Amino acid sequence: ALTIGIVGLPNVGKSTMFNALTRAQVLAANYPFATIEPNVGVVPLPDSRLKVLASIFGSERILPATVSFVDIAGIVKGASEGEGLGNKFLANIREAEAICQVTRVFSDPDVIHVDGKVDPASDIETIATELILADMQTIENQLPRLEKESRAKKIEASFLDVVKAAQKVLESGETLYSAGKAAGIDIEELAPLQLMTTKPFIYVFNTDEEGLENTAMQEELSALVAPAEAIFLDAQFESELAELTEEEAAEMLEDAGYTESGLDKLARVGFDTLGLQTYLTAGPKETRAWTIPKGATAPQAAGVIHTDFQRGFIKAEVIGFDDLVEAGSTAAAKAAGKARIEGKEYVMRDGDVVEFRFNV
Ligand code: GDP
Repeated sequence: ALTIGIVGLPNVGKSTMFNALTRAQVLAANYPFATIEPNVGVVPLPDSRLKVLASIFGSERILPATVSFVDIAGIVKGASEGEGLGNKFLANIREAEAICQVTRVFSDPDVIHVDGKVDPASDIETIATELILADMQTIENQLPRLEKESRAKKIEASFLDVVKAAQKVLESGETLYSAGKAAGIDIEELAPLQLMTTKPFIYVFNTDEEGLENTAMQEELSALVAPAEAIFLDAQFESELAELTEEEAAEMLEDAGYTESGLDKLARVGFDTLGLQTYLTAGPKETRAWTIPKGATAPQAAGVIHTDFQRGFIKAEVIGFDDLVEAGSTAAAKAAGKARIEGKEYVMRDGDVVEFRFNV
């Protein structure tokens, strides 16, 4: 499954946020989670369309799409050289599709900062440096073999050039995600090396109430991490929210003047960063959001439900969500000419309401 790895220095609020994430998962009632692992938080992707569809179809239950977060414990200065959890940390992080760094902005004198002061920019640099050093090491270890294989014409010489270009970027102190493209590197090509700084980054700034209202500070930090996304949340507030029922939480959010929780925002941004979108199915039994990569075709989308659906794909009956809501029912949408029959080449759009026809 696609997962986002959560990293950060000690004492920045990772566990607090992660507890809120796992709590949100427990509350996402009746979702058939395969296994609940202690270091994985599977969070429902908020989608207001699902309730609307469920009421049109009289669905018994709603199954949202989910985003998985893995708690990657214990990055510290020197992690790339085996300090702290070192190598185990690196193995966990390699498996994540994106990296979410939690950074401390809240200034509670009772909570010690590992470097003695609250300094988000410096925290970001510390973690980036560790990941950059680890990638440099990976490349250094692989280069002799790659050079040999290139001389023996077992690999393309151009691949070696890409690897060397990546090495230059890293040596200049930049991550491949932020600076690779400008250096003319196609990050996809580096996939066989399993590097870490090629992964998309998301930054969560753990702040207090004051910080949530400080737009100047938020703009500054957003600019610092751009083009990566910056999310500002109060981990303690989020963990309190996660203890409440949906209604209570909505009320508490409204009282505080927010339209959505920080975790909801994180799930949305995470989903987007992973390059995913959803399509919808609905019937009396359930209304469900299915996760597909952006650009997926109709048969690929069908394959997410069942591999047989992909193999025996005939066609997809598609109604756009807005058209369906406007018409009020599938039959009315069909009568209004809003239902489309799409074939194998059709590229799915976010919010398509679909029924697949297939041979078994
Ligand atoms: P971790 O080491 O990154 O997992 O950090 P923890 O989640 O254990 O948090 C470290 C300490 O900071 C704990 O005592 C938390 O209660 C506290 N903490 C976490 N988030 C916040 C916050 O938003 N505001 C304040 N004041 N304290 C926080």
